[in-house]
Amino acid sequence: MLPESEINRVLVVTAHPDDADFGAAGSVALFVDRGVEVTYLLVTDGDAGGNERTLDNSGMAELRRTEQLAAAKAVGVTDLRFLGHPDGQVVPSLELRRDIARVIRQVRPDLVITHHPDRNYRFVAPSHPDHRAVGGAALDAVYPDARNPYAFPELARDEGLEAWTVREVWLTGGPAPDHWVDVTGAMDRKLAALQSHVSQVAHVEGFADFVKSRFGAWGEQAGFGEGRYAEGFQVVSTA
Ligand SMILES: [Zn+2]
Repeated sequence: MLPESEINRVLVVTAHPDDADFGAAGSVALFVDRGVEVTYLLVTDGDAGGNERTLDNSGMAELRRTEQLAAAKAVGVTDLRFLGHPDGQVVPSLELRRDIARVIRQVRPDLVITHHPDRNYRFVAPSHPDHRAVGGAALDAVYPDARNPYAFPELARDEGLEAWTVREVWLTGGPAPDHWVDVTGAMDRKLAALQSHVSQVAHVEGFADFVKSRFGAWGEQAGFGEGRYAEGFQVVSTA
């Protein structure tokens, strides 16, 4: 794994508002504490989400961007990029790979955090088709697109974006996490981030308890002991 001291910039690539917060906001908060620059890239605006909605899709998109800005702020992230693809219809297309490769070349991260591209048969919730599509496209953008100067040559030719090699990827929501981050010290901020997605979670009774029990169970699974919270990732070396 990359030593912590070599992680100076992190790019989090997700399908929807709130994905970064469920999967990685605790780890993100700890990165920010150490002075790491973190950028969020959202492929959709989550315009097909919501509950008891009175908004049409465009209103929902705007609301969810606003909620994601607040959630990011709760863990110290202020650099957010939105691709605006339609929610629920994401495929790992060449266009999406190019759009993600563009941001990788702009941000030049050491580490990318994104969705696991495989379906998790033990726990299906993280395996939304948009998540799998974004995870697959992001991995393809990491290798080979962003590092290959001949992939999407217009990025260099028209936008001056030079090739960039991301050295490591952490995947969320997969069936076999092999890296656990103790996020106990950031759990309040992770919860605040999640609760910023008012349109998604305000109606969920006992939401805070649900979050604490989920990530508390992982804390025990990770061996951090009772009362500790963990986020889990599968680490992929892409150097
Ligand atoms: Zn999602």
